[in-house]
Amino acid sequence: AGTDAGTDPATAPLTAPATGDGPMVDIRGVHKHFGTLEVLRGVDLQVRAGEVTVVLGPSGSGKSTLLRAINHLERLSRGHVLIDGELIGYRRSGDKLHELKEREVLKQRLHIGFVFQNFHLFPHLTVLENIIEAPVSALRRPRKDAVAQAGRLLERVGLADKADVYPRRLSGGQQQRVAIARALAPEPKVLLFDEPTSALDPELVGEVLDVIKDLARSGTTMIVVTHEIGFAREVADTIVFMDEGVVVEQGPPARILDDPRHARTKAFLSKVL
Ligand code: ADP
Ligand code: MG
Repeated sequence: AGTDAGTDPATAPLTAPATGDGPMVDIRGVHKHFGTLEVLRGVDLQVRAGEVTVVLGPSGSGKSTLLRAINHLERLSRGHVLIDGELIGYRRSGDKLHELKEREVLKQRLHIGFVFQNFHLFPHLTVLENIIEAPVSALRRPRKDAVAQAGRLLERVGLADKADVYPRRLSGGQQQRVAIARALAPEPKVLLFDEPTSALDPELVGEVLDVIKDLARSGTTMIVVTHEIGFAREVADTIVFMDEGVVVEQGPPARILDDPRHARTKAFLSKVL
């Protein structure tokens, strides 16, 4: 990813550039428990601007919880997350951390795009209205600019002719492509995907993966949780294998998929490959 990024609207990266030299996403010592259930048990993970990280792991290993922790949809039990150097969910004063108010968290979330398994489009808004909602209402961008940008995004996801349609008139694959365009509209620092194709009929999976591949080629910063191993091999700069709330191993696709070192990675891959 990131090699042929340019300013051409057809190939430009759709996430914002980093402001410093540090990682775009920096997850440090993150723990999360629900009562006595320890779901994340010390996760460290860095994602550099322009790179694609694919997270693999068995059901229940904590992948969704980790994604939700990144944008503070889950409150951490311990550890912290920085996006482009900014602490998420907390403000530091001296050596104390104060939790941010919901309004401030919502503001931070505008810089973190999230694509859910079940699309989560606003059913009462058209495709165009779904995409311009955050830019116009939350970011106070001029409507004309937001509409023009939505047009470019719809072009990128292959749905330029669907701007005025309501979500229920679209296939699942089309709805998910709208959800991707909507997540990109605020020009987030990073785009998170939680199993973006697992709710789709098999024949609709390819069109959504193709859009994500296009974004990967253009240097869009992404973390993708998926079970699509072939896709992971093609787009990932780094594959992270998680199990039981920890990162078991990570590395380039060939290293993880063809030469896994840990028994748990081997066992998982032998079931899905
Ligand atoms: P994955 O996405 O890898 O399948 P999850 O992050 O969804 O895993 O879940 C990890 C574990 O945390 C599971 O055992 C799940 O049941 C549990 N869990 C997730 N959310 C909650 C919650 N809100 N309350 C209690 N347990 C939860
Ligand atoms: Mg999950």
